[in-house]
Amino acid sequence: MSHSLVTMSYIVATILFIFSLSGLSNQETARRGNYYGMLGMAIAIIATALSASVTSYAILIVALLIGGAIGAKAALKVEMTQMPELVAIMHSLVGMAAVLVGYANFMDASTSLSGVEKNIHEVEIYVGILIGAVTFSGSVIAFGKLSERISGKPMLLPARHWLNLGLLVLAIILGRMFLQQTETGGGTFPLLLMTVIALAFGVHMVMAIGGADMPVVVSMLNSYSGWAAAATGFMLSNDLLIVTGALVGSSGAILSYIMCRAMNRNFISVIAGGFGTSGGEAAVVEGEVTPISADETAQLLLDAKNIMIIPGYGMAVAQAQHTVNEITKLLRDKGKKVGFGIHPVAGRMPGHMNVLLAEAKVPYDIVYEMDEINEEWGHVDVSIVIGANDIVNPSALDDPNSPIAGMPVLECWKGETTVVLKRSMASGYAGVGNPLFVLENTRMLFGDANATMQSVLKALKG
Ligand code: NDP
Repeated sequence: MSHSLVTMSYIVATILFIFSLSGLSNQETARRGNYYGMLGMAIAIIATALSASVTSYAILIVALLIGGAIGAKAALKVEMTQMPELVAIMHSLVGMAAVLVGYANFMDASTSLSGVEKNIHEVEIYVGILIGAVTFSGSVIAFGKLSERISGKPMLLPARHWLNLGLLVLAIILGRMFLQQTETGGGTFPLLLMTVIALAFGVHMVMAIGGADMPVVVSMLNSYSGWAAAATGFMLSNDLLIVTGALVGSSGAILSYIMCRAMNRNFISVIAGGFGTSGGEAAVVEGEVTPISADETAQLLLDAKNIMIIPGYGMAVAQAQHTVNEITKLLRDKGKKVGFGIHPVAGRMPGHMNVLLAEAKVPYDIVYEMDEINEEWGHVDVSIVIGANDIVNPSALDDPNSPIAGMPVLECWKGETTVVLKRSMASGYAGVGNPLFVLENTRMLFGDANATMQSVLKALKG
């Protein structure tokens, strides 16, 4: 394929990636957005494979087959609840690729660059390996935390901010040494040492971040993986990789910012870590819970006019979305007003609940964002909280010592009655007790959310 045809294909792929991102910003166009992304990536791979820079098809085909098989197997096997883990581990591969490409470039004796161009190339190698190594080790730890192989509690070393600053300064000094030594054909030692430091930094950074801040970390690592890809693009002089990396890097950064705003947290304080470790002790929840049966819940729903459903992580675990949709249809047919209140960090990844509800074919126009309904609770007769916990925790608003203090929540307790569906009194992801469960107007419907919803459906039909 000629050089200009490759460039043309890259431009088309870039445009498709931009369409893809814009499609993904809305549920109704998300599917189309995915198709654009897939088409763009197919064009990018084919154009790269047919370009003059590929010299060995045998190696490429073997690599594509191995990578494709692993990717297809992972995608077929992964449960919806494991998606964030999969995303985290995929980010780690982008980071590892940047490190490996960096070392390959460093060891490549055939480069004919000299003077300023050579220096720039070496800076690209150094920075690419640095970002790649942080992304790699940080993503592996994020994977461990999300899959509960590593504790979600923040690990706080003494003087950790100074430690981070020290590592950064060391990385800069080593960078200078690296550039000086490459003049005489050396540089291996500072490069290797910096890689070890960057790996340690990635581990330390994510280990220090507590469970409830993980969504932001996943999106931040997404951004890092984009910058790592862009750095790889610079090293390989591949324009498409630079642009795509920048798109991923900046969209991940914007998403992290939006999520921080949704959790009322400052981005820097999230990255600095230590969430869930405010000085005082969070209040222990005391009081009696009032249980309710499925039949009584059905009766409450039949007596209500305005119903709000709040799904959380437990709905994903129980796979209750289809039963919930059937109940919604039935109630709407009986003339009830039914809505869904979605918290921006409900579940275990951004948009988790929206994906589940879309899969169950819940109409988009009755799915509301938190800001839209937090003013409306006065008109709600019954709210059904399905496997949600942290996102409906009043202590976020009234207990300054709570680890989730300041995080906006769905204030369902301001409605007439709240029914909470969960299996036990266990805490949610942030590991804090929830005073909602002992409020006078709260009823607890214990059991697996799908089983209890099935019983409610049966009672409604009966
Ligand atoms: P939580 O993790 O706070 O609570 C989920 C609740 O679901 C648990 O209390 C659990 O209680 C219940 N549950 C689990 N399985 C079932 C089941 N089969 N049937 C019924 N109930 C069940 O979830 P939320 O959605 O309320 O909040 C999300 C939390 O996750 C936040 O802290 C958020 O910061 C964090 N997070 C969010 C991410 C995102 O991007 N959205 C990513 C990573 C973390 P029990 O065991 O008693 O049944």
